[in-house]
Amino acid sequence: SLVVSNLDMAYGELDVLKSVSLTVKPGTVTCIIGPSGSGKSTLLRCLNRLVEPKGGDVLLDGASILAMKPEKLRRRVGMVFQQFNLFPDHTALENVTLSLTKVKGIPAQEAERIAEARLADVGLAARKHHRPGSLSGGQQQRVAIARALAMDPEVILFDEVTSALDPELVKGVLNLMADLGQRGMTMVVVTHEMGFARKVADQVIFMDEGRVVEGGPPAAVFDTPKSSRLKHFLDEVL
Ligand code: ATP
Ligand code: MG
Repeated sequence: SLVVSNLDMAYGELDVLKSVSLTVKPGTVTCIIGPSGSGKSTLLRCLNRLVEPKGGDVLLDGASILAMKPEKLRRRVGMVFQQFNLFPDHTALENVTLSLTKVKGIPAQEAERIAEARLADVGLAARKHHRPGSLSGGQQQRVAIARALAMDPEVILFDEVTSALDPELVKGVLNLMADLGQRGMTMVVVTHEMGFARKVADQVIFMDEGRVVEGGPPAAVFDTPKSSRLKHFLDEVL
């Protein structure tokens, strides 16, 4: 499990996370929702040590991630970004293979075998020799997801991975993520897609101004919101 307790994070003088606590159980999907600037991306970045919190702790299977080497942590906690972050000069297959050889030290042949399998999982077997520039946004995002999956992480963090996609490509990527959830992947998903959160999440966490204001099963969060801030947010987005 991933246990976040009383996490504080600041950018200089600006307190961005204020005593954030939540628990992600293995094999579950947690969706994080909330207004722009509420600290959702910063929370994910803390979970992957892309930024360092100033207080609190995060336990991954009981061990503090703050005591781990970031490179080691990132083999166990994968992340997929809005902007794909693929290497433009490498094919889809190379993009997935490279992280396996470089980050995990897996021999090239074995890495390629794994990469092919994960690209097939995301429906891209036929596109594996294409570079990102000749793939659609949705296909590029699938490559990024295949790359995260190939590392065989315990948890994958998704930060608004459909926000940069053309509308007609969003659904395919969301369906893929729903599939991963069904197959038992532990996922923390920051999203503006409330339909996805309602349908796929085991728990929904609402953040506002750096705090977890409310959280629970999707039905509770969406149908019987308690705080006025969540009610107001849902009025705006639904
Ligand atoms: P969005 O929905 O727009 O992506 P968010 O909930 O992901 O918003 P964050 O990106 O975590 O919000 O930002 C939280 C706060 O931290 C905001 O006030 C933002 O301006 C500030 N912030 C984010 N990144 C930095 C940075 N690198 N340096 C300084 N301040 C930052
Ligand atoms: Mg964000």
